[in-house]
Amino acid sequence: MKKIGVLTSGGDAPGMNAAIRSVVRKGIFHDVEVYGIYQGYSGLIFGNIHKMELGSVGDIIHRGGTILHSARSDDFKTYDGQMKGIEQLKQFGIEALVVIGGDGSFKGAEKLTEHGFPTIGIPGTIDNDIPGTDFTVGFDTALNTVIDAIDKIRDTASSHERTFIIEAMGRDAGDIALWSGLADGAETILIPEEDYDMDNIIHRLRRGNHRGKRHSIIVVAEGAGSASDVAADLKENAGIDTRVTVLGHIQRGGSPTAYDRVLASRLGGKALDLLLEGEAGKMVGIENNEIVSHNIQSILTGQHKIDPQLIRLAHELSI
Ligand code: ATP
Repeated sequence: MKKIGVLTSGGDAPGMNAAIRSVVRKGIFHDVEVYGIYQGYSGLIFGNIHKMELGSVGDIIHRGGTILHSARSDDFKTYDGQMKGIEQLKQFGIEALVVIGGDGSFKGAEKLTEHGFPTIGIPGTIDNDIPGTDFTVGFDTALNTVIDAIDKIRDTASSHERTFIIEAMGRDAGDIALWSGLADGAETILIPEEDYDMDNIIHRLRRGNHRGKRHSIIVVAEGAGSASDVAADLKENAGIDTRVTVLGHIQRGGSPTAYDRVLASRLGGKALDLLLEGEAGKMVGIENNEIVSHNIQSILTGQHKIDPQLIRLAHELSI
C-alpha cells in the first residue's frame, strides 16, 4: 500500500478534521502517500484530488467542519458515477480510500469495495446513529453545544417561570436529545425510539407547577416530531403557554471536544492499520472503549440502538 485517498461526505461533524489529520499523519509516518479528495464523492467523480503533506493538516485539529469540504452526490449513487470515481483514483495511482461520514457515505464505500476498490469507513456524524460503534465522531461536541444552549435557556426559563421546548437534531436517532436532556435535567425528553403520551406530559407539567417548580424544560428530538407541534398541542389541550427554541445548525459547528479529537485520532489510526494489513470493506468504531472494526455490510443492514438503561434513568430522574 503506497498511495491512499481520504474524503469526507454527508453532513459535516466536528472532529472530522482530527480524523483527516490522523489518516494523513499516520500514513506519512508509514511511508504512504495520502491524497485528499475534496467535496466528497462529487469531487471524486470530477477528480478534485490533491496530495496532502504533513503541513496540509497543521493547525486543523481544533477546527470544526472539514477542510476537505463535503457534498451530496446523486451521480455517485449510479454505477457510472462509481466507475468514474474509481477511474479518477486509478489515474492518481491511489490504491485504497478512507471515507469519513454517515450511513449514506458508507453505502458509497460499500459499492467501491464491491467493485474491487478497497475502502474503510470512519463514522463521522453528530447524530450518533450508526450501529457498530458506541459513539460517532462529532456526537460529543454536538451534545456539549446543546447542553450549553439549554443552560442558557434555563436561566431565562426560571426568571420568567416558563416552560421551554427545545428541538435537537439527530435525524431518526434520539441520542442527542436523550443525552442532553439527561445532562441538563430536562423534565421531559421526547425521542423517536419511544411513544409519548401528551396527557402524561400535561400531568407532569401541572404536578411540577403545584409543587412550586419555576420552570420546565422539554427536549424534543427532531425524529420524534417538531417542537412547534408539541407547543401547539400543549396550548390546545391544556392551555399551557410555552416558548420554542429550534437549535438547528449551531449543533453541527464549533471546535471539537477533547473526546471527539481523541476518538477521531484513534479511529483514523485504526483505519490506517486496517489498510496496511490489507483489509477492506470495514468500518472502524469504538465499543466499551476498545477500538474495533466491523464489515460495512453488517453496518448497513444493522440498526443503531439507543441505550435502554439511559431511557429508564431519564424517566426515574424526571419525576
Ligand atoms: P449524515 O448522516 O450526516 O447525513 P450521510 O453520509 O448519511 O451523512 P448522505 O447524504 O446520506 O449523508 O450520503 C452522502 C453521500 O453518500 C451521498 O450524497 C452519495 O454521494 C453517497 N451515497 C449515499 N447513498 C448511496 C448509495 N446507495 N450508493 C452510492 N453512494 C451513495
